[in-house]
Amino acid sequence: MLDIIDHHALRRFSDAGCTVHENYPLANLTTYGVGGPADVFIIVPNESALIAVMTIISEYHYPWKVLGNGSNVLISDAGVRGCVLQLNGDFSLYKIEKYGTVQSGCAHSLIQLSHSMIRHALSGLEFSCGIPGSIGGSVRMNAGAYSGELKDVVTSVRYYSVCDKKVIEKETDLQWGYRTSMFRDSNDIICSVTLQLTPAEPEGIRRTVIDYTQHRKNNQPTGKRSAGSVFKNTNEYQIWQLIDECGLRGYRRGKAMISEKHTNWIVVDHGCSAREIYDLQEEIIQQVAKKFGIVPEREQELIGDFS
Ligand SMILES: Cc1cc2nc3c(=O)[nH]c(=O)nc-3n(C[C@H](O)[C@H](O)[C@H](O)COP(=O)(O)OP(=O)(O)OC[C@H]3O[C@@H](n4cnc5c(N)ncnc54)[C@H](O)[C@@H]3O)c2cc1C
Repeated sequence: MLDIIDHHALRRFSDAGCTVHENYPLANLTTYGVGGPADVFIIVPNESALIAVMTIISEYHYPWKVLGNGSNVLISDAGVRGCVLQLNGDFSLYKIEKYGTVQSGCAHSLIQLSHSMIRHALSGLEFSCGIPGSIGGSVRMNAGAYSGELKDVVTSVRYYSVCDKKVIEKETDLQWGYRTSMFRDSNDIICSVTLQLTPAEPEGIRRTVIDYTQHRKNNQPTGKRSAGSVFKNTNEYQIWQLIDECGLRGYRRGKAMISEKHTNWIVVDHGCSAREIYDLQEEIIQQVAKKFGIVPEREQELIGDFS
């Protein structure tokens, strides 16, 4: 725990309208279900509270991190020093602005938004019906599946710029790439996004969603905790194939195991530690590098100390 956390600062976070917890367990806020506590966990209800919180954090020079749905992170067993922000309240809302244009807060669930679009008769988000991220986390990493990516439908992003200390709306030059955007290398906080979808028959949208869901059930592990794909693919290779050719299918480190069904997924048993998952990831990196001379790049993000 950081001994520099000041009770005056905590009071100011509360006065800004936030809910504040000290030494708050984060494991259940992630899909792996592992990891230690945050020194301070701050639930931020709206943009003005976010600006206030960021001002206080900057005054005190606290380290900080935003957590979305925790479906693409591995938090260390020692937890996270400083402040972890969870955006909630207004950030969880979405609205249809005019036919086809959807504005969604960063904390809304991508899966839920994708399914809601069936009844709004809007096509374009079907690809994301099984991606368990928040809108903010998913835009940051340009989440995608089945040849669709968020970049195909996002027309603007409203975000808190750490550098400018204000909320900015941006439509162009979002630097989209494979599982990346301009937000991947910055600390800027996505507040909401605008999506342009296409009017379509709800039955056709529903059928596509059902097909994708069935395809996931057939090809991806279900029933065990995971954080989806561990490493990135490239144009040259499918990483699951390299891991498979290293003979690692079903390979275990304690309670963490390379899935029998999909070798780029690590599935975990109850009671697993972040260290076991991390060690298994490192073992994959070493074995693939040794056999193929290729160093796999993590898609998932490490948060906290793994030294
Ligand atoms: C079962 C399963 C299936 C999956 N399938 C897919 C798939 O098909 N395709 C795919 O691309 N991914 C997939 N994933 C991975 C994951 O769901 C996505 O990467 C998702 O977009 C991560 O969003 P999140 O809200 O969970 O982000 P988190 O894991 O909470 O955070 C990831 C990063 O985003 C940052 N972040 C979160 N919110 C914000 C914000 N508002 N502003 C700025 N930064 C923010 C965090 O600080 C962190 O750096 C899968 C995961 C699981 C568990």
